Amino acid sequence: MTERQRVLFIGGLGRSGSTLIERLLNEYPSTFAIGESVHIWERGVRDDELCGCGDSFSECVFWSEVGRRAFGSWSEIDSERVIDMRWHTDRTRQMPQIVRALRGKTLPSEHRDYLDLIGSVLVAAGELARERTGAEIILDSSKHLSSAALYSLDERLDVRVLHVLRDPRGVAYSWTKEIARPEASGGDMAEMPRYSPARTAGRWVSDNTGFAQLERLGVPTLRLRYEDFLNDSLGSLRTIATFAGIEPPDFPEGVFDGSTGVLATPMHSAAGNPMRFGSADVTLRLDDAWTTKLPAQQRRVVSAITGPARKIFGY
Ligand SMILES: [Zn+2]
Repeated sequence: MTERQRVLFIGGLGRSGSTLIERLLNEYPSTFAIGESVHIWERGVRDDELCGCGDSFSECVFWSEVGRRAFGSWSEIDSERVIDMRWHTDRTRQMPQIVRALRGKTLPSEHRDYLDLIGSVLVAAGELARERTGAEIILDSSKHLSSAALYSLDERLDVRVLHVLRDPRGVAYSWTKEIARPEASGGDMAEMPRYSPARTAGRWVSDNTGFAQLERLGVPTLRLRYEDFLNDSLGSLRTIATFAGIEPPDFPEGVFDGSTGVLATPMHSAAGNPMRFGSADVTLRLDDAWTTKLPAQQRRVVSAITGPARKIFGY
């Protein structure tokens, strides 16, 4: 393959509005959303959870073919071993090694072995997406900083990062709420995890400053504040399309007019936010419930922890 597979990587802390942006971008004919590749080994290959199309991972025609092209079959993959590799390589605490590699040093062999595997998945998914829909770009909403950094080291991929961020007090409040995960059949993982506002605030700082560092290391990055997106969604989508290297198309009648729409293009997304299932009626509005519902004490904690970083990003 001479041409690198283009990947638009949606990065940033979860609950920042990225799933909505992912779904809107998935309506473009030239993009194809694959969900959160970072979780594919656990939630797809091992646990056989539901794909965004509604079929289980093993029954999904898209992912079955991706496995066939990448490895002969997913059954060739020892999922426990790869999950273990992922936990040792694609993690925030591994960022120093990955950053050194971005600066030209050699990537440790375990990282390289894992990157070979996940890179093969992304290449096969991109190839199949192009054949099925003509899409030139795969949308990966893994969000993790370490995944964005690691994938950028794969010579087969042209990774561009859409860094989405939102007011940390809104993000912190959102992570305290219960949200069900319909793709899991029950048990502990039937709900998305919840985090304390202090923990979310710490992650907000490390994640967002980390993405800014990635940009300084030469990874093509477009930063988008969710609040700015809500103010001018169509303008933001055009900016994203140009950044990704595609002509920004107009949405067909009824799909999205800048504030409301019905997003019906199915997504073969192998993990992610519950909003990825079925068709979605969307109405853009600023969710500012945190201004009244996040207790004052917790709000002060979040504000204090995120103070200097908030200034960098204009919050
Ligand atoms: Zn599917």
